[in-house]
Amino acid sequence: MKDMRLVEERILKEGVVLDGDVLKVDSFLNHQLDPVWLQAVGNEFARYFSSREITKIMTIESSGIAPAVFAGAAMNVPVIFARKQRSVTLSDNVYSTSVYSFTKKSVSELAVSKSYLGSADHVLLIDDFLANGQAAKGLIELCKLSGATIGGAGIVIEKAFQKGRNVFEKEQIEVYSLARIRAFENGVVKFAADQIDRD
Ligand code: 5GP
Repeated sequence: MKDMRLVEERILKEGVVLDGDVLKVDSFLNHQLDPVWLQAVGNEFARYFSSREITKIMTIESSGIAPAVFAGAAMNVPVIFARKQRSVTLSDNVYSTSVYSFTKKSVSELAVSKSYLGSADHVLLIDDFLANGQAAKGLIELCKLSGATIGGAGIVIEKAFQKGRNVFEKEQIEVYSLARIRAFENGVVKFAADQIDRD
């Protein structure tokens, strides 16, 4: 059974709304990690995507790695994280693409080794946040370059007032977010009312 409140409750208890529509969740997801909670997060992604014949989970370093690893453990598939690096260090052995970060206001290069992603893979994308969807764009592009197909996207916290979901929908990739934030109102987190349990 899906625990609808798993992520929402934690955000309400410990999340801090910062200027610029940024939610700080350093006490359990982005700095200190709560492994028991993360295991429940991983189990929930595994439950939801269990019928998709996923062969690999893919995320971006560093904050996507923790939820991705717990999902990978629950689904018994390997986890690969795209590395952020400067283009000078890229080689022929990697697929790479550029990603713009609105939070950092800079472009970075994302890369994965050709050894670990290929046309035999059916990938579940996992990330901690979905905001403007630039990270999502980068992951989708890396999968396309490698010939891997995408079976879905699992997001821990979606800021539904930003446009990230469109990036997945344009590619007909189903997004499953454990918490969907509709707005920050005077420093208070408001969740979307349309969270549906498709059990
Ligand atoms: P994007 O805009 O590409 O969807 O989000 C890029 C990345 O920025 C996310 O993977 C996440 O690591 C980070 N990010 C975006 N919005 C927030 C936020 O409100 N809080 C935190 N902690 N990270 C965020």
